Amino acid sequence: MRTVNAYAAPSATEPLVPVTIQRRDVGPKDVQIEIAYAGICHSDIHTVRGEWGPITYPQVVGHEIVGTVSAVGDDVTKHKVGDLVGVGCMVNSCRECENCRAGYEQYCLKGNVQTYTGIDPADGTITQGGYSQAIVVDEDFVLRVPESLDVAKVAPLLCAGITTYSPLRHWGAGPGKRVAVVGMGGLGHMAVKIAHAMGADVTVLSQTLSKKEDGLRLGADHYFATNDPETFEDLGNYFDLIVNTVSAPLDMQAYLRLLRRDGTLVNVGAPPEALPIQVFTLFNNRRSFAGSSIGGIGETQEMLDFCAEHGIVPETELITADEINSAYERVLRSDVRYRFVIDASTFA
Ligand code: NAP
Ligand code: ZN
Ligand code: ZN
Repeated sequence: MRTVNAYAAPSATEPLVPVTIQRRDVGPKDVQIEIAYAGICHSDIHTVRGEWGPITYPQVVGHEIVGTVSAVGDDVTKHKVGDLVGVGCMVNSCRECENCRAGYEQYCLKGNVQTYTGIDPADGTITQGGYSQAIVVDEDFVLRVPESLDVAKVAPLLCAGITTYSPLRHWGAGPGKRVAVVGMGGLGHMAVKIAHAMGADVTVLSQTLSKKEDGLRLGADHYFATNDPETFEDLGNYFDLIVNTVSAPLDMQAYLRLLRRDGTLVNVGAPPEALPIQVFTLFNNRRSFAGSSIGGIGETQEMLDFCAEHGIVPETELITADEINSAYERVLRSDVRYRFVIDASTFA
């Protein structure tokens, strides 16, 4: 066992504080990673504040992790000491169910092991996330990070990148497809960059026009404010695909009406509240309402390679560990531009 510095939530209502945690010894199939950078995802905030249900405290979160391999177990074949690697939202799965066998570990029928708040099959402890100096992960859940990408910016691809890449791929974002991205935060701005690189016609639907210049610079073709009722009139029956990244409940009816025939609204935003829908809104234009959870390990590697090929990294603001709590407040105010990344050397 190894003791490492980390930041943990002591309860649902208190700020995160410095702690030490134990990382397990490197098992035969394990990779030990010295964490260089960890992104802040809105899911970290939902989790530590108990918004998705009770958790056990203290809890270290963080599932956008990039670092360097410092040790590998005897049976490891995929990674070696010195490699630049990443870890996302999962650190294990059953590997046997039909979804795991098909490469959809995120939909493991026995439940994948999340990077934090999961039960680690290696030792039965509760998994602790990336706001820490080092982590030990089974090699099959460790990704290769292309060296051409800026290491200080790449971490958010491990969640925000794959969570938007997967539905954009699955629902065929590409030339001739009109794609709307709702919410220009961490996930939203990645969806804009990725959908643009896929060749789609991209529209941002943000609460206001305050980030319009950024949106257009990042690859959006159009930008509308959702606080303007005319937006919903002008864009009726228009989109092939809408990716909703908003962390709070929205009026889904209003957004479904923006879909043209056979269009899909896929929700990746994860508010705990139910989202009411009238089926008649789905009958019209044969619309679909869908959800999507991160992406499989193979697909995450594909996304990293796609981003390397297209030179895509997130827009980030680098912070020190003692700035995590104020960064949370800015995320909650929709004042993130567009992902906070923690310099893990400041956990020392
Ligand atoms: P984020 O950076 O906070 O972005 C969310 C954006 O939604 C904000 O920047 C804001 O954009 C908009 N928004 C926030 N509150 C709003 C409100 N009350 N009404 C309308 N718009 C609002 O969060 P994130 O890290 O991108 O995560 C977004 C959501 O996705 C979270 O719920 C997170 O848990 C979830 N998530 C899901 C998965 C998955 O696998 N499905 C993976 C990762 C994250 P504007 O300022 O442009 O309006
Ligand atoms: Zn996340
Ligand atoms: Zn499985």
